Amino acid sequence: MSILVVGGAGYIGSHTVDCLIEKGRSVVVVDNLSTGHRAAVADQAVFYEGDIRDKDFLAGIFEKEPIDSVIHFAANSLVGESMEKPLKYFDNNIGGMISLLEIMQDFSIKRIVFSSTAATYGIPEHTPILESDPQVPIGESKLAIERIIHWADEAYGIRFVALRYFNVAGAKPDGSIGEDHHPETHLIPVVMQVALGKRPKLMIFGDDYDTSDSTNIRDYAHVTDLADTHILAVDYLVKGGKSDCFNLGSATGYSVKQILGAAREATGKEIPAEVGPRRTGDPATLVAASVKAREILHWEPNFDDIHEIIRTAWNWHQKHPRGYQDKEKAK
Ligand code: UDP
Repeated sequence: MSILVVGGAGYIGSHTVDCLIEKGRSVVVVDNLSTGHRAAVADQAVFYEGDIRDKDFLAGIFEKEPIDSVIHFAANSLVGESMEKPLKYFDNNIGGMISLLEIMQDFSIKRIVFSSTAATYGIPEHTPILESDPQVPIGESKLAIERIIHWADEAYGIRFVALRYFNVAGAKPDGSIGEDHHPETHLIPVVMQVALGKRPKLMIFGDDYDTSDSTNIRDYAHVTDLADTHILAVDYLVKGGKSDCFNLGSATGYSVKQILGAAREATGKEIPAEVGPRRTGDPATLVAASVKAREILHWEPNFDDIHEIIRTAWNWHQKHPRGYQDKEKAK
């Protein structure tokens, strides 16, 4: 039987496909390549290019492939963009999920692991954030998806695990796959691009926050640790685990200035930086309590040191200064 990875050419998706292949699992990938990269997908995976909102396309895959579980990454996730283009986010994220769930129901596939986000908590009342804390989202489409899956479970028995990510960073330690967004907006890859000389400086988005050094604090987990959790979550559902939501983070927060300092150490580069205005939608602090994922899914992250995480990112960026561009050409 195969696991369908929707959005398997993206950053976290491609690392999850890689982990699944390394564990000897059979994998089918669907991606519309709007933000993902064909070259990021392991050769051993069966690949289909297309959009999950196209139900005929999706049904064709379920007819052909022996799929028994789904891992779904194909959703937009930039808070700033979601506030500027809410309709695009609702159409892609909610439209995509409804289409996927309908086809799963048609083919009696009853397990899905879905990437949700820390942004479903909005501006938190306290930290670390617990799963039971109120959700007043900034970007609402992913919370809506959690509700949609809940009702699909009630009505059709499609069991789910929603993994609420905090910040994801790093790359596969051998540097063969990594993070490559266009345009790049995330802190650590932006800092890496400055270290490579591809950008003149880092713009720090605000230093008037109520935090220890007045810059934003985030909880950075390593991408291969997150990838592992998706496999643990599928196995949890296969063993009959009930539908549930889990935070994925390290319970340790780092400020923008601390990340900059760690990156300067890891790369040995100066990395110029300047303070600019706040970015819309940024809470001051987002740190996850992830005891629940550790207890129930038996999640044991391998990376707990931000320097190590940044070193894996630096390794990827040094080996692929133009991201996947060169690899795509070689294919
Ligand atoms: N950030 C920054 N400059 C940048 C990119 C990000 O100061 O060029 C800050 C941002 O305000 C946030 C943190 O870095 O506090 C992490 O942002 P990122 O976009 O990586 O992830 P997010 O927390 O938005 O998911």
